[in-house]
Amino acid sequence: MSDIFGDDTDGEERLSDPIHGRCLCGAVSITLEGVLPKVDICHCDMCVRWSGTFLGGLSGTSATVTGEQSVSVYQSSEWAQRAFCSKCGTNLWYYFTPTGHTSYLAGLFDVPKGLGILQQIFVEEKPDWYDLVQKSPMKTGAEVIAEAEAAGFTFD
Ligand SMILES: [Zn+2]
Ligand SMILES: [Zn+2]
Repeated sequence: MSDIFGDDTDGEERLSDPIHGRCLCGAVSITLEGVLPKVDICHCDMCVRWSGTFLGGLSGTSATVTGEQSVSVYQSSEWAQRAFCSKCGTNLWYYFTPTGHTSYLAGLFDVPKGLGILQQIFVEEKPDWYDLVQKSPMKTGAEVIAEAEAAGFTFD
């Protein structure tokens, strides 16, 4: 089964070492293991408003969060939550309720060189003042929603 944030990673190569990340003030830190070395990018207007540009997320097979007392969670829609540090405002992760998939903001982490882009979604909502030069799969919002519905998710 796949989800709109690219959870369908069976058989994909993963980073052998965990990656470590933290918010600007250091109150929250995150260790991700089994990381898929590709950034999942969403250009939808909610992600652009939330992050200032696009949402670039990384996911792994497990995550350890410390400083949870400083994590605030905002229910941004019926099907998603967005977490941020209540002390410094750094955005931390996007949680997609139907699948339980969490996408951690790539910029939090010290990452090895050479990460690719998994896909870019909601490309039709992307502001026209930026473009990513790397070649990567591009999907419109309608394509993403159709894929998710085909996988059994509903967005009512
Ligand atoms: Zn912080
Ligand atoms: Zn988005």
